[in-house]
Amino acid sequence: MTAVIDLRSDTVSKPTPAMRRAMAEAEVGDDVFGDDPTVNRLEQMAAERMGKEAAVFVPSGTMANLIALLVNTRPGDEVLLGDQCHIFNYEGAGSARIANVQVHALANGATGGLDPAAVESAVRGPNIHTPVDSLLCLENTHNRCGGAVLPLREMDALTAVARRHGMRVHLDGARIFNAAVALETEPARIARDCDTVSFCLSKGLGCPVGSLICGDRASMELARRHRKMLGGGMRQVGILAAAGLYALEHHVERLADDHDNARRIADGLAKLGPFAVNAPQTNIIVADIVEGTLEGWLDALKEQGVLAVPFGPQRLRMVTHINISRADAEETVRRVQRAAAARAA
Ligand SMILES: *Cc1c(COP(=O)(O)O)cnc(C)c1O
Repeated sequence: MTAVIDLRSDTVSKPTPAMRRAMAEAEVGDDVFGDDPTVNRLEQMAAERMGKEAAVFVPSGTMANLIALLVNTRPGDEVLLGDQCHIFNYEGAGSARIANVQVHALANGATGGLDPAAVESAVRGPNIHTPVDSLLCLENTHNRCGGAVLPLREMDALTAVARRHGMRVHLDGARIFNAAVALETEPARIARDCDTVSFCLSKGLGCPVGSLICGDRASMELARRHRKMLGGGMRQVGILAAAGLYALEHHVERLADDHDNARRIADGLAKLGPFAVNAPQTNIIVADIVEGTLEGWLDALKEQGVLAVPFGPQRLRMVTHINISRADAEETVRRVQRAAAARAA
């Protein structure tokens, strides 16, 4: 085994031969006219899985989240979210530039959640001076918190606060299927009290591209308008939707293997001195570098044929996915050991 083991992200996963066949054979039409039968089937299946009335297929998770902001707020409103969340850190401030909302970032806990009391006290009273708090955003699993699963009890407590104040809730469920597998529950349960929920096909589910946003019918009609405005109206896109349908039918249960492989890699790293590693609940390993530099380690790993990404000033991230077998996970540990030995020599 000398091939490079690419753990930079689950977005590097490649479509399987069976998925490619499903794509090649997809029946298509112009989806902007609502004519693509494969997209329509995917949207229906996504809505069912999330327990919502309707869904809209969009090019990316970033666009899904931006559409959620546009659907659930009015310009000048305030959005409460976690300071580690994807919307706040990795979406080019689309919230400010396009949705015209103010974000109030609250400290994320280790599981990616928020303190319900902190949310409660962040909600502003009705007053001519203050912005209107109209939306709470949650993320499950939580990317920057190392793929942490936000437990249902914590989600329920947070959605209850929002509800009490007449706020809507958006769940960034980019990896909601990882959360569902880890919690041994249905994604619809996780998203139960959320007005909108988005998820990515292009990550652990192994599709080349695509995300869905789901919610009630009126919100999704609005979402479709916003998608067109943002340039996300695609045409014979059943070719991509076919990959999504295939993944929802065949690639969900296997996420447990990714979680198992992530634990194997984390255990291997934890045995080496230079890393303080999370205990992965899902497919994301984050390791704080306690000896040496981040750059030095990323280079040393690359030299051994293991790719990771920087994830903070002294932190690296590895993500398991459909192209990482158990043998690859074991080989990753051996390669990291070799990198550590080479460094010590
Ligand atoms: C990857 C990711 C997104 C956005 O996905 P893109 O398809 O890359 O735009 C949103 N939220 C979370 C938590 C993610 O991990």
